[in-house]
Amino acid sequence: MADRRQVLVAGAGPVGLMMTAELRRYGIDVRLIDKAAQPTQTSKALVVWSRTMELLDRAGCGGAFLAAGMKARGGGMFSGRERLATLDVRAVDSPHPYALMIAQSETERLLAEHLDRLGGRVEREVELTGFSQDESGVQATLRHADGTAETIGADWLIGCDGAHSTVRHRLGFAFEGETLESDWILADVHLHGPDVVSDEIRIYWHADGVLAFFPITPGRFRVIADLGETPPGAAGRPDPTLADVQALLDRRGPGEIVAGDAIWLSAFRINERKVASYRGGRAFLAGDAAHIHSPAGGQGMNTGMQDAANLAWKLALVIRGEGRDGPLLDSYSDERSAVGDLVLRNAGAMTRVALLRNPIVQSIRNFVVSHVTRLSPVQQRMAEQITELDIAYPGSPLSVGGGHRMPGSLQADLRIGGGNLPRLTLLHPHRHAIAGLAADWPGLVQALEAAVERPTLVRPDGYIALETEDFAAITGYLAALAGPGARTK
Ligand SMILES: Cc1cc2nc3c(=O)[nH]c(=O)nc-3n(C[C@H](O)[C@H](O)[C@H](O)COP(=O)(O)OP(=O)(O)OC[C@H]3O[C@@H](n4cnc5c(N)ncnc54)[C@H](O)[C@@H]3O)c2cc1C
Repeated sequence: MADRRQVLVAGAGPVGLMMTAELRRYGIDVRLIDKAAQPTQTSKALVVWSRTMELLDRAGCGGAFLAAGMKARGGGMFSGRERLATLDVRAVDSPHPYALMIAQSETERLLAEHLDRLGGRVEREVELTGFSQDESGVQATLRHADGTAETIGADWLIGCDGAHSTVRHRLGFAFEGETLESDWILADVHLHGPDVVSDEIRIYWHADGVLAFFPITPGRFRVIADLGETPPGAAGRPDPTLADVQALLDRRGPGEIVAGDAIWLSAFRINERKVASYRGGRAFLAGDAAHIHSPAGGQGMNTGMQDAANLAWKLALVIRGEGRDGPLLDSYSDERSAVGDLVLRNAGAMTRVALLRNPIVQSIRNFVVSHVTRLSPVQQRMAEQITELDIAYPGSPLSVGGGHRMPGSLQADLRIGGGNLPRLTLLHPHRHAIAGLAADWPGLVQALEAAVERPTLVRPDGYIALETEDFAAITGYLAALAGPGARTK
């Protein structure tokens, strides 16, 4: 008998792991496969930003990340030894006002351990080779390490299978965008020197190009630098040597910094691509399968993990029969595709500013950045953007109350996640006033007493769905969301 699951997740990178763990937490029967024999051994994405930490708290594994990572206060922009600008994230309104520096290999290890505690696991060396779908579900074909093929049925398929996504190809979705015409190198090395600090990301703008240091663990850093335009017709540059990296440090850095103990040296190019829709019937895309962009801002993995948090509660509600497919599952693509566009735009702008080569334009850039970023509204705006705390869903059909995240203090209250049920939470200063209303749909909403001005309906991912004194509006909202199997009193 072919295996039959509620959900099949293809790809066990950070996004597939987060997706599967969230679905498991909500009691969904999910299978997670990955074609690779091993999890990633390289550091890749290094920063977990505040908003992702908040979602990891809700998921129940924020503490493990905090214990394993290293806090940084933000970023500094330099020209040689001169500090042009500082981006300090310590004042953001979040229980996690910092950048958590942690190698992606560690992030994946912690998520896999979290998944294990929830009774899930990664099936390795199992590749999704294709799928078909109709109204009743998805038929997927898998290839095992020994070459055997397997067919599996699932109600839903989620492609977390990275930049070369099989799910995306099979859906026939275009990955629109471009490959930037510049070559880059990265190096994971130990750095020693007077200006080496472990609690700040440092970016050096030099006439030749950009150089950046990301702390990973005390003394260990990711160094990134651009090498200028790709020579015409070139297939790609070779991986750098430690001597190449040292030469870049000497030329573009503050001086007296010595690199050693190379762990990973690689050349890379930047792709900026995205799909138009994250949903194709019963199949969804999340993470790099849906959007890839410049590492400037370190938001690729964070955005993908937040895709997972967005889809998991909606899909869980629908699978449990408590929520309705249309409004919930279509809103995943509406909400996250808009965020993907924004992240692509911001990361692209940061990259292009760093790549400016004209000396006059460079000095104007340095002058403007050093003055404008001193303004406190600009600091606040930039800090909220980089930490992804400014992400909101104002245009979403699910957002009648603005779609903004709950303020930090309430956000920290994990009860607002509805525990391990994918429920919305209705907050009211006097719980008894709304208890009856919540009891009408116990699988869809819970009532909590909280210091809010007006009754507030909060989604499981912490965004405000609706804020109103009008009980009929709350009832109407819930009725529109309630699925065919929603339990009623
Ligand atoms: C060299 C490098 C440096 C990077 N640096 C940064 C950085 O500094 N900051 C940042 O934010 N991001 C960075 N990134 C990007 C970041 O690593 C990605 O955004 C992140 O890994 C995306 O996670 P994901 O789970 O969507 O995809 P992936 O991590 O790519 O995981 C996809 C998984 O799917 C599996 N898979 C693929 N096809 C199939 C299939 N058909 N069947 C089964 N399994 C399949 C793969 O084996 C893989 O495990 C970097 C990436 C690279 C390559």
